[in-house]
Amino acid sequence: MKIFFRLFILALAAAALFLGCRRQLPAPLPAAAKTTPVYPERLRGQEPSIRVRCLTTTEPLTLIVGGAYALSVVTLDGATQSGEGAAAVAIGVSATAGGVKVGKDIYRAVTVTPRTAAPLRVRYDERGKIVEREFPGAFTFSRDASGRVQAVITLPLEDYLVGVIAGEMPLEWSPEALKTQAVAARTFALYQIKTRGGKDYDVERDTRSQMWQPQNHDARARLAAQTTRGEIVTEGNSLFPTYFHSQCGGATANGKEVFGASATALRGGVKCFYPSPRAWEKTYSREEISAKLAAKKLSNGRLLRLELLDENQRPLGAQPARAYFARLFNENGVERVLPFNDFRLAVGAERGQIESSFLVATHIDAAVKFAGLGAGHGVGLCQYGAAALANRQYNYRQILQYYYTGANVVKVWQ
Ligand SMILES: [Zn+2]
Repeated sequence: MKIFFRLFILALAAAALFLGCRRQLPAPLPAAAKTTPVYPERLRGQEPSIRVRCLTTTEPLTLIVGGAYALSVVTLDGATQSGEGAAAVAIGVSATAGGVKVGKDIYRAVTVTPRTAAPLRVRYDERGKIVEREFPGAFTFSRDASGRVQAVITLPLEDYLVGVIAGEMPLEWSPEALKTQAVAARTFALYQIKTRGGKDYDVERDTRSQMWQPQNHDARARLAAQTTRGEIVTEGNSLFPTYFHSQCGGATANGKEVFGASATALRGGVKCFYPSPRAWEKTYSREEISAKLAAKKLSNGRLLRLELLDENQRPLGAQPARAYFARLFNENGVERVLPFNDFRLAVGAERGQIESSFLVATHIDAAVKFAGLGAGHGVGLCQYGAAALANRQYNYRQILQYYYTGANVVKVWQ
């Protein structure tokens, strides 16, 4: 009995100590994130390859191969042929009727796989400027539906991930923040692979999917990928698109309203602990807004007034808050409600424009001033918030489970 009593006192003391420690940390966070890797049968497997669309161009490009290579082609009548090349070459590639012209021959598709450590290089016209870039993996050239040359790289997902971590987060951030980014980006990529259907690539190499900087071989990015190898975020045993963004501005957004993403883990409203979100403001004339909306075929009248609306289409107040819709009142009497994300992308969502959807809009004469907090769409993981939690000693699993409410972190390949 005495022993039990002592144990009880000890337990109380431990609980008090535990609570005492917890008080200095933000709450509520999952106190004990699942740390045992589990293998949902449906997702378990080998590390997959990913196909990254690296460029599309109407101009001829040059492929530079630094050494021995393997070549595999699909001819115009659908036959597959393969061969090996022993020496370094520079080959011209251009789009032509029915396929791509590589050197002197025309094929439906051509895949070049380097046999040496030297990565493939491509010299091409990027918005009027000739650039030469190096890419890891094997290149497949084909003609896309718009008649352009399309270059798609295939490489192991974990290798791709290193370039995404380097592209998406400052590498001087803490290792736990980088690991959080690694798992979110790995899951996002795997979701794209599983849902791409008949497309001939899985992801783009920029923010249309996630930023990929394959030239950056930083050891910190590699370590974040290696120490979380095979780990993904799931809801139940299902994948969902693990959206992430720069700074939510105070609380995260509802993914269903922004992207039509129905996962409960993306329902948003997660309070953020990043203490000093970026404040921005930008003023547009009503003429300018009208023209930008018309260019995207979102509205065709001259704008008289606009209102920002919440999730339930109620007007926002005078303090910055999450906008889900924009109600437009045009001079021709037409009233229209647009998803705010569409409005923002049409008017300008880059740095120095309407940087986030956490904002207020004020009419000043014939102009509208947008003033807000944070950066990005606000759905899912907040990168600055993740860094703030990592600095307070939370681990990457806890951070992921905090922003992706109710989700699990599981390992699906070794
Ligand atoms: Zn945040």
